Amino acid sequence: MSSKSSRSIFRSLSFRLNLTYAACSVISMAAVLVICYLFLEGSLRRRTDVYLAQEVPEYRALLESQNLDVLKDALAKEVESEGVDQIFFRLIDPEGHVVFSTDVSAWTRLSVDQQAIQAALAHVGKPIFFGYHDEEHDVQGRIAYGAISDELVLQLGESLEGVHTLLRQFRIVFAAATLAFLICSLFAGAYMARRALAGVQRVTQAAVHITAGAWEHRVPVSRYDDEIDELAKAFNTMVDRIEVLFRELRDVTDDIAHDLRTPLMRIRGEAEMALRETAPASFDGERCGSVLEECDGMLHFINTMLEISQTEAGAAPMERSALALAPLVEDVCELFRPVAEDKTLTLSCALEALPPVSGEASRLNRVFVHLLDNAVKYTPPGGAVCVTGRQEDGEVVVEIRDTGIGIRADALDSVFNRFYRADGSRSTAGNGLGLSLARAIVRAHEGDINVSSVEGEGSCFEVRLPIAADVKL
Ligand code: ADP
Repeated sequence: MSSKSSRSIFRSLSFRLNLTYAACSVISMAAVLVICYLFLEGSLRRRTDVYLAQEVPEYRALLESQNLDVLKDALAKEVESEGVDQIFFRLIDPEGHVVFSTDVSAWTRLSVDQQAIQAALAHVGKPIFFGYHDEEHDVQGRIAYGAISDELVLQLGESLEGVHTLLRQFRIVFAAATLAFLICSLFAGAYMARRALAGVQRVTQAAVHITAGAWEHRVPVSRYDDEIDELAKAFNTMVDRIEVLFRELRDVTDDIAHDLRTPLMRIRGEAEMALRETAPASFDGERCGSVLEECDGMLHFINTMLEISQTEAGAAPMERSALALAPLVEDVCELFRPVAEDKTLTLSCALEALPPVSGEASRLNRVFVHLLDNAVKYTPPGGAVCVTGRQEDGEVVVEIRDTGIGIRADALDSVFNRFYRADGSRSTAGNGLGLSLARAIVRAHEGDINVSSVEGEGSCFEVRLPIAADVKL
């Protein structure tokens, strides 16, 4: 994938919608999981405290019903069954002396908190809790102090290792769930963004078709009657209106051109008659001559305009047949050779053996005459005009390349419009209709014409015509 297309993917609305959707989903999911995790962690810790708190009255009852030795025995057995690194017990007197202790070798940072002992003795039945953290050996636990008689405090502790193992497993499950959710939401987001924007794409495609001249194209309206359908309906109504205005404007222009042609022909006829009856060298003769010239120029202009309209509307009759383009283009090149030589231009014509196109020779001839005329006209002396032809993707492609004045990048789209003339071309003869007619003729042949150009370096006009079907050379 080219960097340009990947850049445009990242900038596309569907990509950004997808990303926003995935980000929102994952953030919400992660927030829920974090809350669950914190709640779980808190309740597991509380469960440890509840367990420790329950142990104290049990052992107090044992001491009251039995004696100290039985109690010590019971504590030692409990540690033995749970493991020395999981639980420990110590009996401490009010002065802080340890009277009895189970194996506390795993609890290296154990100390006696005198204040906790006093508090436990003062509030019998209400144990005092502390956190235990030995960073060096990575041991964490909870410690409780609870009075089991007026003279003895039970200090007991339980490791949080089990809790941490459980929490670690939860973290792994949560991370995997978040990742899976992210992937799912990316797919779901892509699907939803695609669905939501499909309607916008329908409108874009219709706009592209209409811009290319397919005025009959409209945006299909679905049965959902949603916002996109409203946009489609508004768009279609707008195009209907523009089409009517456009056709009306074109009809008015054509009508004016049509109406002008008749009186102009009459003026021309009168001038011709007057010229015939007057001595050509006389003053009146000269005037009649220039009136004739002007009339010819205006008639040519009007006729070209009407021809463009008729060709674009498909109203101009055409007689198409299998036509070999190479000899036609070569003839046009020969036609321009003397003019090119006069202007000290190098004119070269290199056309491969080309398959035939289906076309009308006289009209296609006009296209190439006009393109070569422009190439010669807009190339300063000493330059070159090169005509080449090739077959490509079921089409015959003829290129007319020159080293002339070139066309500004922002004017490239306009050169095929009626009456367009670049600022630098106004001093050159022309009326800005030639390329418009050339395009109308090529399109009437189901082909197309394109231009590429660099200002000051030259231009290249490319005519593409489909190869005639079922015709052998
Ligand atoms: P014109 O009669 O003015 O040549 P066209 O429709 O043939 O009308 O061309 C429109 C405009 O496109 C020209 O006025 C000129 O500015 C530009 N143009 C056309 N062909 C060339 C070319 N080969 N090199 C530079 N500019 C060109």
